[in-house]
Amino acid sequence: MTERNLVKPDLNFIRELKTAGGDTLKQCYQCATCSVVCPQSPDDRCFPRKEMIWAGWGLKDKLVSDPDIWLCHHCGDCTSYCPRGAKPGEVLGAVRKGAIEHYAPMQGLAKAVNDRSGLTKILAVPVVILLVGALITPALNRILPYHQGAYGAFMNTWFVDFTFISAALFAIWSAYKGVTNMWADMKANSPTQPAGSLTENLLAVLKEIVPHKKFKECDVNQERATAHMLTLYAFIGLAVTTTIGFIIMYFTGEEGVIGKMLFVMMKFIGNISAVALLAGAGLLFINRKSKDEKSGMGSYFDWGFLWMVLLVGVTGFLAQMLRVAGADNHHPNILAKAVYFVHLVTVFYLFAYAPYSKFAHLFYRTTGLVFGRMTSRQ
Ligand code: SF4
Ligand code: SF4
Repeated sequence: MTERNLVKPDLNFIRELKTAGGDTLKQCYQCATCSVVCPQSPDDRCFPRKEMIWAGWGLKDKLVSDPDIWLCHHCGDCTSYCPRGAKPGEVLGAVRKGAIEHYAPMQGLAKAVNDRSGLTKILAVPVVILLVGALITPALNRILPYHQGAYGAFMNTWFVDFTFISAALFAIWSAYKGVTNMWADMKANSPTQPAGSLTENLLAVLKEIVPHKKFKECDVNQERATAHMLTLYAFIGLAVTTTIGFIIMYFTGEEGVIGKMLFVMMKFIGNISAVALLAGAGLLFINRKSKDEKSGMGSYFDWGFLWMVLLVGVTGFLAQMLRVAGADNHHPNILAKAVYFVHLVTVFYLFAYAPYSKFAHLFYRTTGLVFGRMTSRQ
């Protein structure tokens, strides 16, 4: 006897997809051109046509646990060739946003981060924390030493480190919860179970991600691969810079041979990374604007994140220049303090909200690619 399946559309999810850039999804008439032109789509159970059906039906559970949505690099080839203007690349982008919000351990926070109307509340958290920090700094500096040239007189460095380590731990916990929940759902809904070593497959995926091998297979919008790669390398460089800064501050100091060498390394890697960040984010910005017809314009989810990355880069640079230009590193002027404050707020946003914003695609895509590899989807 034929098995009967009852389809339960999630109308809210359809609405969410439409407002997140997938407003064209109902225009799809299932011709499958998108699956044919997609350079990432496997021959078996190809995408994004099947996702377009599921999106049209509002099958949220199927979509958010579908590893194929993470095989897509949003190159826009399918959007460019779609004869109906249904923009499947944009729809998949909206589905990924839905998946990030669905798997986030604090869904309300994810919604606020990815909605323009939540920006004030979201920024209020670091603003209040850092204002308190600035107010108690004179007292803290009397009992805890602060470090030269690091705006220590304005914001106690121990306070800054405590705040950002807490933010990082919150982000790690959130990312771990999200990724493990997604893995469990992918396993439950996949017709093939993952096989092989997790570590080996993870390493193989990282080897693809770092040089952006798959990204470069896209046709219509290859320039985006270079911009994306620059941004990724910039974040890796900034993570290395922060680690060196931490070692100098708490272990070696700036004096002595090792301290001085580390200091030069930190400045060199930090500045190169900042330039790469500005160049990469700037190119991504220009690319989205100029290719909107061919590969889609994106939504606040994409633009909000991009603006925040640019702000981190610009304020980081300015804060350094204003400090160097200042007569006395220990007493930065009001402009320098304001720029440094905005820099800390934007860095907090990127750090603490990483598993809730577009940044989360770094963790979820890696997980989806590993799952895809272990189930022969690549
Ligand atoms: S999204 Fe466009 S190309 Fe893909 S199946 Fe629908 S109509 Fe065809
Ligand atoms: S945007 Fe590119 S990678 Fe994604 S489904 Fe379309 S063609 Fe494939």
